[in-house]
Amino acid sequence: MKLTFRPVELHLAHTWTLSRTSGANVSKGVLVELASADGTVGVGEAAPTSRYRETIETVQAFLRKVDARGLSFNDVEGSMAYLDTISPHDMSAKCAVNLALLDGAAKRAKRPIYDFIGLGFHENQHVSSFTIGIDKPDVMRGKAVEAEAFPVLKIKVGVADDKANLKAVREAAPTKPLRVDANEGWKTKEQALEAIGWLAQDGNIQFIEQPMPASISTRDWAWLKERSPLPIFGDESYHLANDIAQTAECFHGVNVKLVKTGGITGGLAALQAAKKAGLKTMIGCMIETSILISAAAHLAELCDYLDLDGNVLITDDPYLGVANNRGVLSFAAAPEKSGLRVTARATGLAD
Ligand SMILES: [Mg+2]
Repeated sequence: MKLTFRPVELHLAHTWTLSRTSGANVSKGVLVELASADGTVGVGEAAPTSRYRETIETVQAFLRKVDARGLSFNDVEGSMAYLDTISPHDMSAKCAVNLALLDGAAKRAKRPIYDFIGLGFHENQHVSSFTIGIDKPDVMRGKAVEAEAFPVLKIKVGVADDKANLKAVREAAPTKPLRVDANEGWKTKEQALEAIGWLAQDGNIQFIEQPMPASISTRDWAWLKERSPLPIFGDESYHLANDIAQTAECFHGVNVKLVKTGGITGGLAALQAAKKAGLKTMIGCMIETSILISAAAHLAELCDYLDLDGNVLITDDPYLGVANNRGVLSFAAAPEKSGLRVTARATGLAD
């Protein structure tokens, strides 16, 4: 096996701001390629985030430590166990290799990954939200107008202007279902409960994601879960299937992301554990190319909600994979029929 990788810069259509970050116009990732002697090539992607102390430098440092002889398309599980011996962390780097391994393994089996892992994929049933980052109210209103084609919006909150921002979005999209993500923005359970109280008055908000920091005690989360008038979902609080018992005490649902689970293998386990615990499930994303977005879409059948718009928010996606047709995800037109079902738009890793 040969492992190659290169950093990639993705340019955002709009400046991206969350409760914990200032505006960004560029997002950096790492693209990975695994090639076997028989000519099978698998691709993967890491979308590291500072929230989990990962950067493109840490991802590449991890990948340099990988001996490709420890990786095999015939043994994805064993290959992942080998990666865990290199570091207990570096989940987005492991995610990139996991995607490449499964892409290659499923291509060899001549099947899409969703069939290779036994889930299937129903066309015309999987609707993703479209996310509007924090900005001035008039800008958020403009973004909501621009997102008119998308049936569900997700808005970011957790700043002083939340009320004005929600009002502005509602002027542009009065009746559209909304999801709200505080990205750990409210610091106490009382503050969170008060904020969720006014959000609930909107009447058409589906749930609130990560209202408080992941470091908040289970007891305080359970207090909020019991009283919250809207379902609360754990994102920064829920990473792996192992965390499910504590997560189920704290939340009504979870947002699983491949950068947290180390790829599709871990994502499958995290979603199955959440469903078994009776929680609602969502799969989300970072700012990503169609490699990671398509990878997440292969798990759509296990999800009550999808938030897979990272590739729609950028202007220079180097890959073609799952399509987003007015929020509806579809593999129907993807030229590649097996593996991740992604194709390089230009010359891929060789350029
Ligand atoms: Mg989130």
